[in-house]
Amino acid sequence: MQFDGPVLELMTDGRTRLDQRLAGLGPDILAEELDTARFLRRLRGDDPTRGIGDALLDQTTIAGIGNIWKAEGCWEAGIDPWRPLANVSDAEALSIVEHVRPRMRRSAELGPRAIGPRVYDRAGRPCPRCGAPVRARGQGEANRTTFWCPGCQR
Ligand SMILES: [Zn+2]
Repeated sequence: MQFDGPVLELMTDGRTRLDQRLAGLGPDILAEELDTARFLRRLRGDDPTRGIGDALLDQTTIAGIGNIWKAEGCWEAGIDPWRPLANVSDAEALSIVEHVRPRMRRSAELGPRAIGPRVYDRAGRPCPRCGAPVRARGQGEANRTTFWCPGCQR
């Protein structure tokens, strides 16, 4: 499930609690119960001009969303990953993570083939929801490629 983040899944819960290096991490996206209050608190502490897609890659805001799931989550929620945090409501931010959680859990169980990407790595191909061509562009300081549909993500 971790394609580009720290290898959190190899650690037991007990080890995780004890590991001081992890103290700064945001709530775990794959936790049985997502700590939504802590996620939103961390998100609101971030730069309000930062794009939501880029912000979701910040492991101190929410731990475990990699580049694939950031793109898929924004698509599921119909939210443009370039939209600044200031213009993303709490409900919209939660919608992204709540949509992506079941898909991430399924892929963690069944492996990467279970991802079935809607927009990730599909630049130029039709969006499965509206048919517009999916776009790709580097985002954020790390310039990670973001995939999104300009037709139905606002
Ligand atoms: Zn679309």
